[in-house]
Amino acid sequence: MNAPPAPPHDYLARLNAEQRAAVETLDGPLLVLAGAGTGKTRVLTTRFAHLLMTGRAQPHQVLSVTFTNKAAREMRERVGSILQRPVEGLWLGTFHALAARMLRRHAELVGLTSSFTILDTDDQQRLLKQVMDAEGIDLKRWPPNGLMSVIQRWKDRGLTPDRIPVAETSDYANNRAEKLYAAYQARLVTLNACDFGDLPLHITEILRTQPDVLERYHRTFRYILVDEYQDTILVQYLWLRLLAQGHKNICCVGDDDQSIYSWRGAEIENILRFERDFPGAVIVRLEQNYRSTQPILSAASGLIARNEGRLGKTLRSGRKDASGERVRVVSLWDSDEEARMVGGRIEEARRDGQNLSEIAILVRAGFQTRAFEERLITLNIPYRVYGGAKFYERQEIRDAIAYFRALSQPADDLAFERIVNTPKRGLGDTAIAALHRMSRDEQVPLRFAAERLIQTDAIRPRPRAALRELLEGMTRWNAALEKEGHVVVAAQVLEESGYTDMWKNDRSIEAAGRLDNLKELLRAMTDFATLGAFLEHIALVMENDDNSEGAKVGLMTLHAAKGLEFDMVFLPGWEEGLFPSQRSLDEGGAKSLEEERRLAYVGITRARKYCTISHAANRRIYGNWVNSIPSRFLEELPESEIMREGGIKQAPRIPSSVFSAGAPLSSMRRPRVIEAGAWEVDQRPEREKAFSVGTRVFHQKFGYGRVTGVDDDKLEIEFERAGTKRVLDRFVEPA
Ligand code: ATP
Ligand code: MG
Repeated sequence: MNAPPAPPHDYLARLNAEQRAAVETLDGPLLVLAGAGTGKTRVLTTRFAHLLMTGRAQPHQVLSVTFTNKAAREMRERVGSILQRPVEGLWLGTFHALAARMLRRHAELVGLTSSFTILDTDDQQRLLKQVMDAEGIDLKRWPPNGLMSVIQRWKDRGLTPDRIPVAETSDYANNRAEKLYAAYQARLVTLNACDFGDLPLHITEILRTQPDVLERYHRTFRYILVDEYQDTILVQYLWLRLLAQGHKNICCVGDDDQSIYSWRGAEIENILRFERDFPGAVIVRLEQNYRSTQPILSAASGLIARNEGRLGKTLRSGRKDASGERVRVVSLWDSDEEARMVGGRIEEARRDGQNLSEIAILVRAGFQTRAFEERLITLNIPYRVYGGAKFYERQEIRDAIAYFRALSQPADDLAFERIVNTPKRGLGDTAIAALHRMSRDEQVPLRFAAERLIQTDAIRPRPRAALRELLEGMTRWNAALEKEGHVVVAAQVLEESGYTDMWKNDRSIEAAGRLDNLKELLRAMTDFATLGAFLEHIALVMENDDNSEGAKVGLMTLHAAKGLEFDMVFLPGWEEGLFPSQRSLDEGGAKSLEEERRLAYVGITRARKYCTISHAANRRIYGNWVNSIPSRFLEELPESEIMREGGIKQAPRIPSSVFSAGAPLSSMRRPRVIEAGAWEVDQRPEREKAFSVGTRVFHQKFGYGRVTGVDDDKLEIEFERAGTKRVLDRFVEPA
């Protein structure tokens, strides 16, 4: 018996009519403009496979641009699975990765060699400072960070120093920015280096001015595919346009409702420009959503309908099981309860056999992952943070913890070494070498060696003074620990050591998030009675780090979740000030509010089957409780699509500024308590698990034990192996 012959291209059968049209329209410019989950990425990958299967192109003749490395990996897999073989030698990756690869081939055209280095922000800053110094700029008056962002903006807009139009000039440093920009670029060339912004800038410049190079790429790239097109910035657009002018076979897919990078200069304008630059472009619209159940889709659509600046489109669910469960909106007493709720539901899902990699927690701001990470660790649920490090592995957190370790344990050389010149105090290699020598010779830890070193003239007066200041600080903080408590002292340490200033003066995009992480760290410390107990907890968390393969819950920011999908999605922290983010609103007003709403839309539309949104009524700010107002987005969700749980009755509209950008850490000592007005919350819920004397429990670090005393949420436990300890009840499970 012969099996019936497989249809020639059965991957086409997995598309609907519109998608199929988009895949089969191979020649000429094509724009797919469609809502979330309508199969835009599927169209791109199928189109890629179709190009190869029909012999239109060899794998290396297709240029495909994705938004993240994760998306590039997924695309490679999807193409591979359609073709049923792995494909190599692809021009597939993010804008930056592709630009870097091209630039290495033509580096000499911009005065570099192919082995050029890509500078990180630190090096970039240092270099800018040197350039500014050489030009006699008063660095106090004109911080280099300001210049850095001016230059970045020019680079994002494809402007080299000699091509800055009048409308784009800057008055930074009395109109000297252009000259500084030119000098900085010249310095980079002498160092055979470039910064991130240079990658697309240089390559675009090469393609613009070197017709023979451009022509070579025109011959190579017969087809161009671009995902998440709504978030391209101008320089990327210019690069694409140059490359596409050859065959004009460019296919871009995007969704204006998911444009979430306007702060990086991504513009809806690029979508509109497409039709102008590629006359005769075919526009395809997709309206069937295959990802989410009807309630999830309707909730998201109802929310985004509040935005005014939209191109507008319809979306209907194409899932067979389209009915589905409503979106849950859960109101909780505080952030601890929120983390417990999310952890509990994930635990339940795991028991029901749900694959953990199909579960995601999506947060607005990076610092929010901390509470969930700790909860997942306690429950022994493996997780991964995408698009960034785990909370306690983030640079600023490690630095801060090194300070605390150095205080609590003067012999902790690793910690001392990490902080001795962080922030930069002018302790150069010679000073550090002298310190180590002293420590070896005298056989004492570095901190004591430092005490002795400053009594000598082995190092120069300036570094000596800096070191003395640090040591005096440490003595002072150590003395204050008893009296003021570890949380107050921790804030002092970060401020007085100049550590927070270091990030405040840093204008990189991540700096504000790092400051938020530090605040979150202080908040975490309030859960512990002493610095020692906190550090012990950290050790436990770090120890727990598993690099195992296997299914893990995903934690990421909403920005990092773009293009991804999960069966079960948790969206915590929907509170005014946090989401929509106060910082965005302060900076961009009504326009930003629309962007925040698009982010909310991105979040909800990541879910296939279950979507749980939550907010906490109270957040702890530096040991004090502050009311949080539910996000206005919660009220904008169509009531018919949601299911409310918890006790919040009414949400008055009072903007919260607790999380606003400028608040110094020290202001956390005097929190502004927001009058929440007439809204009711159920009383603090009873703990799910009340522990009583005699209960057998399990603790991640100390193992099994029996409760011997209960004082509110603090337990005294006699552990079988670790002896008697006082721990918070949230860190143990009934055994
Ligand atoms: P986003 O805007 O979030 O990036 P998208 O438009 O790129 O979404 P895809 O990720 O391509 O959407 O598709 C969403 C889901 O729907 C995927 O799981 C995909 O496999 C599935 N899908 C797409 N088209 C179809 C179809 N014709 N039949 C069945 N499933 C489909
Ligand atoms: Mg997509």
